[in-house]
Amino acid sequence: MRDYYEILGVQKGSSPKEIKNAYRKMAFKYHPDKNQGNELAEKKFKEAAEAYDVLSNDDKRSRYDQFGHAGIKGNGAGHPGFTDLNDIFSNFGDIFENMGGGGGFGDFFNSSSSQRRSRGTDLKLTLPVTLEDIFSGKVKTVRVQKYILCDDCNGNGCAKGYGLNQCSVCNGTGEVRKVQQSFLGQVVNVQPCYNCNGKGQVISNPCKNCKGDGRVRKHSSIEIEIPPGVVTGSYLTKRGAGNAGEMGSPSGNLIVIFDEVDHPLYLRDENDIIIDAYIDYSTAVFGGKIEVPTLSGKIKLKIPKGIKGGQLLRVRNKGLPELNSHRVGDFLVRININIPKNFNSKVKQIIEELKQEIYIEPEFKKFR
Ligand SMILES: [Zn+2]
Ligand SMILES: [Zn+2]
Repeated sequence: MRDYYEILGVQKGSSPKEIKNAYRKMAFKYHPDKNQGNELAEKKFKEAAEAYDVLSNDDKRSRYDQFGHAGIKGNGAGHPGFTDLNDIFSNFGDIFENMGGGGGFGDFFNSSSSQRRSRGTDLKLTLPVTLEDIFSGKVKTVRVQKYILCDDCNGNGCAKGYGLNQCSVCNGTGEVRKVQQSFLGQVVNVQPCYNCNGKGQVISNPCKNCKGDGRVRKHSSIEIEIPPGVVTGSYLTKRGAGNAGEMGSPSGNLIVIFDEVDHPLYLRDENDIIIDAYIDYSTAVFGGKIEVPTLSGKIKLKIPKGIKGGQLLRVRNKGLPELNSHRVGDFLVRININIPKNFNSKVKQIIEELKQEIYIEPEFKKFR
């Protein structure tokens, strides 16, 4: 019998987390859905599960560390080794659940003919959003491929005119009991039935459309309301909008992660919006009004006379709404002055005269 640490490819002093990760990797690699009919893979899968069963339990692990395989078998408290794959799924259900979180993994583990039936997996989706979307909180429709409830059988997996039969393994109770001898005495271990996954019933004649799965994979449109003020990385969970579960089990969730796209005109600073305005020389000198495009339409902005390049003008409450709040950011306009490069002789003369009248020597100040 091989060393459990060696089977999982971990060091003897590995942390529970390292052991769990190592097991997840092995379980994924040798999962029977991925290696159909491959006996070696099945053997390795069982072997890894057995090693994990021992090394993930503090008590069993310390006995194994002291006495080796004999420490586990000796007093009867240990697991006798997995002979049925369903034992593995029911024992380490959490591991397989967790693996089902992401797109690829989820599809892989749940589309199979494995008898494990559980809540549908979550779907994750990154939704690009513009500042306009974020400002007004638009509703966007996305199309995703996911499992939905089978219409033909309404999720029960049975062909028309057929129903569910009582499970012969658990006689309809949905539970299996295992009596084990331990050094504390007899231990009765109650687990959900592997044959019917605790439902107590099995399909006698599967639905043709979903092959007894109770769900089919299809393109679906999902409406997503963008909460005003979201930032890149904000996410929302649409309960029940993920993959439908097998045999009418509840659906998983859809997790939408928002990703703000770069705007051609505006820069975002938290809830403020900043824009560069280029105004002409005479407006900078005399002051005036300019029209500025904001997210809520054009506004008239007063330019005070004698404004300098680089000065910021603040328009209150014209920025972005703050997420989950009534506060609104500001709209900031940075002033730049357009200095003409090409001009006719008349303009040249005026500027020459201007220079005579208002010329000021250059000044120097500390850089800020
Ligand atoms: Zn069906
Ligand atoms: Zn059963």
